[in-house]
Amino acid sequence: MVSSLSSRERALGAYFGLAIGDALGATTEFLTPREIVQQYGRHQSIIGGGWLRLKAGEVTDDTQMSLALGDAIIQERGVKAGAVASAFSDWMRSKPVDIGHTVRRGIVRYRSSGTTAVPFSEHDAGNGSCMRALPVALAYSRASTQQLCDANRTQSHVTHHNPHADAGTETVLQMVIAAMNGDKIEALQRQAAQLVADYPVFEFGRKRVENPSGWIVQTLQVVFQALFGEESFEAVLVDVVNRGGDADTTGAIAGMVAGAFYGPQAIPERWLEAMNPKILSRCQSQTEALLDLAEAGVEGPSPALGLDGGTDHQLIRPDRYR
Ligand code: MN
Ligand code: MN
Repeated sequence: MVSSLSSRERALGAYFGLAIGDALGATTEFLTPREIVQQYGRHQSIIGGGWLRLKAGEVTDDTQMSLALGDAIIQERGVKAGAVASAFSDWMRSKPVDIGHTVRRGIVRYRSSGTTAVPFSEHDAGNGSCMRALPVALAYSRASTQQLCDANRTQSHVTHHNPHADAGTETVLQMVIAAMNGDKIEALQRQAAQLVADYPVFEFGRKRVENPSGWIVQTLQVVFQALFGEESFEAVLVDVVNRGGDADTTGAIAGMVAGAFYGPQAIPERWLEAMNPKILSRCQSQTEALLDLAEAGVEGPSPALGLDGGTDHQLIRPDRYR
């Protein structure tokens, strides 16, 4: 790691890392580690394929929803619930290659009711609001933690309204910001430890997790094990995608944190070359615009629209949900 990197370079590393992790992991999504070994040996090249039959260098909903969210934030100069829901709805209309069940349900609900927050559900602890949240970290990288968390909840609750999804995502966003600021790995470890202290279900030190589902808890257990167990951007990503399961999403989330931590120069050249250059260029211009917004002064998030929505702007007391 090179501590002289600027936060702008590290932010670009985060966005490239997200897209590359998504593209790399799409090949092994929903395979078991044993199936991966049989078909690919150690999977470490961006070759496309997988259950989506992707072209090499293409990305899935993780990166696409991030770009949709980022555009909405730039246009509105902050996270505005209506603009975010509308951007997600437009994205769904574009017939994306994949879309999660909870995401689809939230967007359908917005279309039929106009509400921009789904009701609280203990079952909505999927990773779908975390995988797309990077633009919030960039736009609110100079804002208070409270404003960062409020902005995240506004975008998250369009489809996912669950304290584990909120807390896990906010930990990831704070890790990205810490890494952008050049913090050491111990600082990121403390953030993960705080999440576990608040919500013990996230405990990740005991057992190696393989074949993670779309549950935010298993997703982050895999991400944290790789991030704190490996010592390069490449090793972190190769670790998570070879565990199979929701591999494009563990790849995307590990990629954003490791990309900020190790910086863009740590990304293997062969992975950058394999990517669709249009996607990388969108990631780059959006990174610039989101950081410009952060510097100019991002606006606070808007409340959710609708009768039974109501974004929870209070930090939820963790002990209520133990
Ligand atoms: Mn995906
Ligand atoms: Mn996925």
